[in-house]
Amino acid sequence: MKCTILTVGTEILFGSITNTNAVFLSRELQTIGVDVMYHMTVGDNPHRLKEMLAYAYHDCDLVITTGGLGPTQDDLTKEMIAEYFGEKIIEFPEQLEILKTRMWNRNRPITPNNLKQARFPEHAEILNNPNGTAPGFWLQKDGKMIASLPGPPHEMEPMFLNELRPRLLAFDNKVLYYRNIRTNGIGESQLENDIMDLVDGQTDPTLATYASKFETTLRIASKRETREEAEAAVAEMLDKVKERIGKYIYSEDGEDLSFVVFKMLKERGLTLSAAESCTGGLFAKTMTDISGSSAVFDRSLVTYMERAKMAELGVKKETLDKYTAVSEKTAQEMAEGLREASQSDVCISVTGYAGPGGGTEEDPVGTFYIGLWFEGRCKAFRFQTRRASRERTREYACVQMFKLIYDVLMGRNEFFAESL
Ligand code: ATP
Repeated sequence: MKCTILTVGTEILFGSITNTNAVFLSRELQTIGVDVMYHMTVGDNPHRLKEMLAYAYHDCDLVITTGGLGPTQDDLTKEMIAEYFGEKIIEFPEQLEILKTRMWNRNRPITPNNLKQARFPEHAEILNNPNGTAPGFWLQKDGKMIASLPGPPHEMEPMFLNELRPRLLAFDNKVLYYRNIRTNGIGESQLENDIMDLVDGQTDPTLATYASKFETTLRIASKRETREEAEAAVAEMLDKVKERIGKYIYSEDGEDLSFVVFKMLKERGLTLSAAESCTGGLFAKTMTDISGSSAVFDRSLVTYMERAKMAELGVKKETLDKYTAVSEKTAQEMAEGLREASQSDVCISVTGYAGPGGGTEEDPVGTFYIGLWFEGRCKAFRFQTRRASRERTREYACVQMFKLIYDVLMGRNEFFAESL
């Protein structure tokens, strides 16, 4: 199936909003084997909208529009689609009732404008919108298909996933199965490069990469006659992917790194504590965001001043004077002191320059040290981010703390390289 995504809105042309709808739809459609041929954007102009529709159907079977479904005068997507398909616009009584109830519940009067939202092309099927007042619709006519979705992403995205995607999947009676493979320590371009030959010329399973904060997710998707076949195709591709980038993968099921660490600690019956300086409690927040984390997470001591590092963790004054609070030695003493205080099985510490002020020539802003105590050994590691904001440095430090624990629990870190 070949598709054009037609986003409607003058705001997009003005650059006032970013066209995230086109990005979302393209990604989702790719995973279900719908080929996106064009992205088109048109302002709130009925004439151009109709022209674009004619153009899109030259070599596509499906057009998906977003935007211009609202109650106001410039929201004309529905009317233009009806005109293009030679459809009358009629009132859908059921939709009118839903609209009335919704307005009644909100104690708002129904204006003539609102009534527009209960009118659709006569042969349209309604796509429900539990998150807003403008329903979408689906229409098939003369070998052409169109889906019209609202503009706001929080309405459009669930409508696509719950209402439109199942309709598109039903076309070929196939079953979609996919897995989100989460990686850390490899950038999107490097990852793509490493699996390029697997991506090239591959129509099923499909591979798509998504870059998010500090990491890259790879989605492997397959659409086959049965779920078993799709699962097997994904598993086979996953094996090939693992041969290339296996060491960067921490979850094959889309889980967060912190959750993976939590599960590993829980399975092994280990406890965890943290001593935080530059992250100011962010590690504790991330850990306690996980329901049930009290099974493994004992405490986090936020030791910000030097005196706190000495009093709570027994960091030596000489160490602070000689090496400063942001140093390998301090991070190590923090982790050792934490072990003394908590008796936890895994003790992690962090100290660094989050910026924007501070830092030294050798350790500029963005530098931090992470200390780790595990099975009687204690070591600290240096990390550096460049040109990062305060917030980003802290978040990055937190991710690296989880990554270090993960690597150590996997027994694959230089932590084990030499004895102390
Ligand atoms: P409403 O019922 O809210 O009027 P609508 O279907 O008429 O929805 P628009 O009026 O075109 O949609 O857009 C409403 C808002 O949705 C925009 O102000 C913008 O914030 C968001 N939006 C619209 N199109 C896009 C897009 N392509 N990408 C991201 N956001 C968008």
